[in-house]
Amino acid sequence: MKKISILGSTGSIGTQSLEIIKLNPEKFHVIGLSSGKNNLPLLAQQITEFNPQLVCVPDKDAKDRLLNLVKDYNFEILYDENGLKEFVTNQYTDTIISAMVGISGLKPNIWAIETQKNICLANKETMVVGGSLINDLLDKYHSQIIPLDSEHSAIFQCLRGRNPKSIHKLILTGSGGPFLNKALADFKNISLDEALNHPKWKMGPKITIDSSTLMNKGLEIIEAKWLFKIPANQIEVIIHPESIMHSAVEFIDGSIIAQFGKTTMLGPIHYSLFYPDNNYPSSIEYIDLSSIAHLNFFKPDLTKFPLLKLAMDIACSDESYACAFNAANEIANEAFLNQKIQYLDIAKIIQKTIANHKVQPLTNLEAILEVDRISRKMACESINKIFV
Ligand code: NDP
Repeated sequence: MKKISILGSTGSIGTQSLEIIKLNPEKFHVIGLSSGKNNLPLLAQQITEFNPQLVCVPDKDAKDRLLNLVKDYNFEILYDENGLKEFVTNQYTDTIISAMVGISGLKPNIWAIETQKNICLANKETMVVGGSLINDLLDKYHSQIIPLDSEHSAIFQCLRGRNPKSIHKLILTGSGGPFLNKALADFKNISLDEALNHPKWKMGPKITIDSSTLMNKGLEIIEAKWLFKIPANQIEVIIHPESIMHSAVEFIDGSIIAQFGKTTMLGPIHYSLFYPDNNYPSSIEYIDLSSIAHLNFFKPDLTKFPLLKLAMDIACSDESYACAFNAANEIANEAFLNQKIQYLDIAKIIQKTIANHKVQPLTNLEAILEVDRISRKMACESINKIFV
């Protein structure tokens, strides 16, 4: 039985993970649940349902509010950064589902690796900002990351049992997002509601905005480069609006192996949670291939989606660029979600931060956090100038 703790249990990935855990009580036991402070009533419900030993929230205020929502509790409640560290490193957990958003996932993921936990990784930003360090730590502590992002899960599945030397390229698919067919001239009027209305995937707000700009696909290139230890110039992005082929690998013998499945994160979450066991049925419907008349594949439009082009360049350059890229995006994405900037400002803020970035070696956590701090500051300054 896997003993699981979840970072971000109230989010899109967290709640779907709990759905699978609930259906398979003989395979999974929930040790810990942690969330932010936006959805404490849901966290309280999850506590009642899953009876965890450990619960973690960001601060004392959230702790007090949560305890008002749960009666007769018998779990240990932790808060702040020390509490989060205790939550992740506890001796009872063997598997962490890492489903927090942004660089906030980096430290907990490092702590999890250092205490030899396996990680079902949704939090792509950790690999984007710290992929090299994370890979060193995984080797040192003999921990494993099992990808949970759908594209990376697909590639992981395609590579199972294959010699990595036989890879010619990784093919990352993307739906193209809500603005695939919108004219560039109309991008300036894109509203928050339109950007949050993804045609294929229901996800948390940050990744939904990233998917609309194709920033998400860019982050995924960098994530894939580190997860599969492959040069970025061997990673191709293909737009596939039907979103049933979740990614593929082309091998040096000219064959392509692809992974297909319904457009639901339950698939990759199921695979990641059960790994290495793949003999368990899921609740996901089977695909009737004959009902799908056409599958389309085409190259992304890099003029309409400049952040994807920037990500491709950054994935091939010094790694601190990726850290700056992520930081600027987190700031710009949040500003757009808070309706402080226009849609087209997102790319401008990120491009400006990258233009001013000074390359740094990212050999340790402190160096990563410093590049993140400086880049956030630059991005905030760009936002402030928009209001002058
Ligand atoms: P959501 O915004 O839906 O959920 C984020 C979760 O993190 C919430 O539970 C949130 O709590 C929690 N959280 C926020 N702050 C903290 C904190 N300090 N400590 C612990 N938990 C915290 O995000 P998603 O589930 O959409 O995405 C999570 C990650 O997975 C992202 O990195 C994303 O890129 C990746 N991913 C997501 C996919 C999806 O389909 N959603 C697909 C592939 C990857 P609260 O409820 O309080 O806000």
